[in-house]
Amino acid sequence: MWLWNLLLSIIIMTHVIAQPCIDIKDKACVDVCPVDCIHGSDDDSQLYINPDDCIDCTLCVDACPVDAIFSDDDLPEEWAEFKEVNEKFFA
Ligand code: SF4
Ligand code: SF4
Repeated sequence: MWLWNLLLSIIIMTHVIAQPCIDIKDKACVDVCPVDCIHGSDDDSQLYINPDDCIDCTLCVDACPVDAIFSDDDLPEEWAEFKEVNEKFFA
């Protein structure tokens, strides 16, 4: 069972855009994402990563000027809700 849980946690791992993106939205991450999984309109307060398409390449992490992007298992506690915020955008 532990092996299944480990595999599951690897399979569903994604990257998440958190609070520092709000009102910045310079789209630097969009330009480097190889699978085009970062979205959001001009009316949205931030951009969002589609967890179903993200391949965890980490290229967006270095591209972000305000350190808003994290692996979901490395998301700071104060921004934990942003995992769901990103998921809900694509629901
Ligand atoms: S980790 Fe890679 S695939 Fe996922 S959003 Fe960032 S650039 Fe795109
Ligand atoms: S690079 Fe960072 S601040 Fe810019 S849109 Fe992406 S997540 Fe937001």
